[in-house]
Amino acid sequence: MEFNKARDIFGMYVFDRRAMKERLPQHIFEALMASIEGGQKLDSAMADMVAAAMKEWALSKGATHWTHWFHPRTELTAEKHMSFMSKDENGMPIESFKGKELIQSEPDASSLPSGGIRSTFEARGYSAWDPSSPAFIMMSKKGGTLCIPSVFISYDGTPLDLKTPLLKAVDAVETRSMRLLKLFGNRGIKWAHVTVGAEQEFFLVDNPVAKDRMDLKYCGRTLLGCCPPKGQQMEDHYFGSIPSRVLSFMEDVERDLYRLGVVITTRHNEVAPCQFEFAPQFADANLACDQNQQIMDIMRKMAKRHDFQLLLHEKPFAGLNGSGKHVNFSIMDSEGRNLLMPSSNHRKNIQFLMFLSAFLLGASKFHSLFRASIASPGNIHRLGGNEAPPAIMSAYLGTTLTNILEAVEKGLPDDMPAQALIDLGMNKLPSVMADNSDRNRTAPIAFTGNKFEFRAPGASQSIAGPLTMVLAAWAWGLEKMGDMIESKIGELDVIDAAIESIRFAASESRNFRFEGNAYSMEWQEEAKRRGLTVTNTTPEALALFLLPENRELLSRLNIMTEREIIAYYEIRIEQYIKTVEIELGILRNMVWEGVLPAISKQILMESAALASLPEESRKEAVSWNAYIARLGTLKNKLLSASDKLEGLRERLHTMEMEEQSAAITNEGLPLCEYIRNLCDTAESILAGDNLPYPTYTKILSIS
Ligand code: ADP
Ligand code: MG
Repeated sequence: MEFNKARDIFGMYVFDRRAMKERLPQHIFEALMASIEGGQKLDSAMADMVAAAMKEWALSKGATHWTHWFHPRTELTAEKHMSFMSKDENGMPIESFKGKELIQSEPDASSLPSGGIRSTFEARGYSAWDPSSPAFIMMSKKGGTLCIPSVFISYDGTPLDLKTPLLKAVDAVETRSMRLLKLFGNRGIKWAHVTVGAEQEFFLVDNPVAKDRMDLKYCGRTLLGCCPPKGQQMEDHYFGSIPSRVLSFMEDVERDLYRLGVVITTRHNEVAPCQFEFAPQFADANLACDQNQQIMDIMRKMAKRHDFQLLLHEKPFAGLNGSGKHVNFSIMDSEGRNLLMPSSNHRKNIQFLMFLSAFLLGASKFHSLFRASIASPGNIHRLGGNEAPPAIMSAYLGTTLTNILEAVEKGLPDDMPAQALIDLGMNKLPSVMADNSDRNRTAPIAFTGNKFEFRAPGASQSIAGPLTMVLAAWAWGLEKMGDMIESKIGELDVIDAAIESIRFAASESRNFRFEGNAYSMEWQEEAKRRGLTVTNTTPEALALFLLPENRELLSRLNIMTEREIIAYYEIRIEQYIKTVEIELGILRNMVWEGVLPAISKQILMESAALASLPEESRKEAVSWNAYIARLGTLKNKLLSASDKLEGLRERLHTMEMEEQSAAITNEGLPLCEYIRNLCDTAESILAGDNLPYPTYTKILSIS
């Protein structure tokens, strides 16, 4: 078999710097770079030249169409393909792509979610090129589409996508980081960029088996099914050898991603059977967000080609680990230094502590936004279980850093604070951190040596939502500390001023830092005592977006306006309601089409067998009779639960949004649980031939 070397195909479908330099006149290239780095506008003549170069490049690769590619407020991306080809006035074919098409497009997107904005304003909008993420070609079997990463905005200027708030949050962190770097005397530094790497967990199941399950097909998770006798208890899957069919899927995904300039650095088996993980090389936040979407998209397409079903759902199987998306983040400066990397240089280490504690400061105040950002319909089934991040937000730092922060907090000898920190082992930090960080996997947020890792986002979520909130909190912390330091300069030297601000952050973030077992019951109680936000349901968690202090934060940092936040909240609630509503419908169908008839078949089979016994044996068959009676009771209970389900579904149609979300939470989810238990009991006592759907054991063994 012939394979292209990874380096030969790397980036071939990205209109990256290399391609731009090759195809653009020098002065246009430079203007474009300036506009990417400094945000200057391209004038229309220049835009025409960039568009022409992009078109020629795309055509040379076999593309036939172009699209603005954007992130509406769903978890996915949206695209509307436009052909390069048209006819001129003589009926001759011409391929064209103009600067104004590159810069702005008007997909009729009135059917995309816009929350409250739709009710008061026209939700139609336009998409605008975001040159900070490069254009790329999405290849298909018979051609390709030039995708132009874009933001999506309504006509009155209100953002309607997930990207715009993210870009604003990134900017909020970066400008405040620059201010601190300058205060610290880092004069030569030109920029500071938020870096992000999102680890992606997923399940792959055999399509020929899984296709017979409506729940997997339409909900991405099983709504019923007993745990297999052998699940993950032997812990033999994690880091085990990757099944060869899966490995070839991974290799094909990786190769397609290389073409898009995305590097997958890590691949391995995860804890549950048929569960795996990909981790990409980190990139600038904006690009990392796009790349995660590309990774999910290519995985979806490739899974079909390999006859797999890809499950990105947060909890596809009850009783087995769910899938998350661990969002790793840090800040890098223009000299390539990671600002969350401890150093052996004292001054740099104080700077490191400052960036670290600025995050903790912001997070301790605004962690309820983190909770809200991960309240996706699938994540309900994962969060708070004993295998996943708990639903209470807290940060784990490890003993070394905790000790240092505590020492700073207690106050150091007035005369020589800086020296005292060195005495605490600060200059040994890098080596200590490398060995010691991150032994605690129960924390939703952990400092892992040179970056933070937010482990609570769901596997199917776009990282844009959670990342926006994390960065908003960080920006606030950076600002607060910047203000404190600035006000002390003159009176104190910058290092001592910084130590004072670190002391403040250490003390303020005490409530948010937790080194113990975050799965334990004691933590639930302790967290309440500490005043941390504890919510149990999705609507409660989503309502945290609406807390006055959260709204104030987002609007003051110019990340989302008040109106946008309310709209965003409404979209999330709607998404929750619709998802559960679909699940209720699918569950109802599965019960009626499969489970109820299966029980009857079994009853008939057993009754006939029993009837064929001689009278004497029949009399003795007490257990057997009880078994048949048990089947009857199950069927009866299922029928009555199904009536309730039907009733609820009908009532939902007559309700307003908030009422629907309450009914779904208080009645819908418990009812699903109850029906599931009945079905699972049935599954456990039905004959193999009568089982209505492929079992977990079958689904979870990749052939
Ligand atoms: P683990 O599973 O042990 O947490 P992985 O190697 O699976 O580690 O994933 C770590 C992720 O963190 C990768 O995507 C990596 O690119 C990313 N990462 C590493 N350093 C940084 C950084 N400085 N900023 C952002 N992300 C980072
Ligand atoms: Mg990992």
